[in-house]
Amino acid sequence: MSASPLLLAHSLASGYGRVQILWEVGFGVGAGRSVILLGPNGAGKTTLLKTLLGLLPLWQGRLLWAGEDITHWPTPARVRAGMAFMSEIGVFPSLPIRENLAIGAQFLEPKARRERLAELEAAFPDLASRPHALAASLSGGQRKMLGLAKVLAGRPRLVVLDEPSAGLSPLLVGQVIALLRRFRNEGAAFLIAEQNVAFLELADDVAVLEGGRLRFFGPPAQFGEEEALRRAYFGLT
Ligand code: ATP
Repeated sequence: MSASPLLLAHSLASGYGRVQILWEVGFGVGAGRSVILLGPNGAGKTTLLKTLLGLLPLWQGRLLWAGEDITHWPTPARVRAGMAFMSEIGVFPSLPIRENLAIGAQFLEPKARRERLAELEAAFPDLASRPHALAASLSGGQRKMLGLAKVLAGRPRLVVLDEPSAGLSPLLVGQVIALLRRFRNEGAAFLIAEQNVAFLELADDVAVLEGGRLRFFGPPAQFGEEEALRRAYFGLT
């Protein structure tokens, strides 16, 4: 991890109403690095991602972005600074493919936007072949691809993905991982909440959330050395 990570979370607490879900969560995402966030159902992964984006209020703790305190920044300011979030839905179903991508690229200058959309057309030929199709008309796998293209469209510095593999066949999961590997080379950082350990191949660091607390943070090799974690996540003895 570099001395001044792109995103640094200090002792975060958050929840819904009066119910606290996250407890003292602290970690960092270095510029250009990929963090895979593992954890069982209900561990608080989605809650953490939404808190980082400012979509849920932070109860306690501090958030730094490239060293600047963004704890009180509203979501649009975080997005303009370079954070992008793909929720489990990930697209606007009532809008055509082209409009979804245009929304993702809306903060780029016109020339950069045209170039980016051309790059995405090359990387996602299935989507490019029918720009006027409504997102709602796409299959689950195609929607996920559109969600990825949309979140990448604005050239974010940090791409935050909530369970990109949800509902996908193993074949499609492989395609998603291959696409992410390709776009990772552009230099963006990734924070990816997943239950599918196949995503560990993308990881520079692994974070494990259990019961709203960070149970582990470190490189994949160290994760593999922790026997209890290995058992829990790989089913190995
Ligand atoms: P999953 O993989 O099932 O989405 P997760 O790790 O993303 O799990 P969260 O969705 O963050 O977990 O949920 C953490 C806890 O917060 C769970 O106990 C859940 O029931 C609760 N929770 C989630 N959303 C809400 C909400 N809108 N209101 C109240 N409680 C919620």
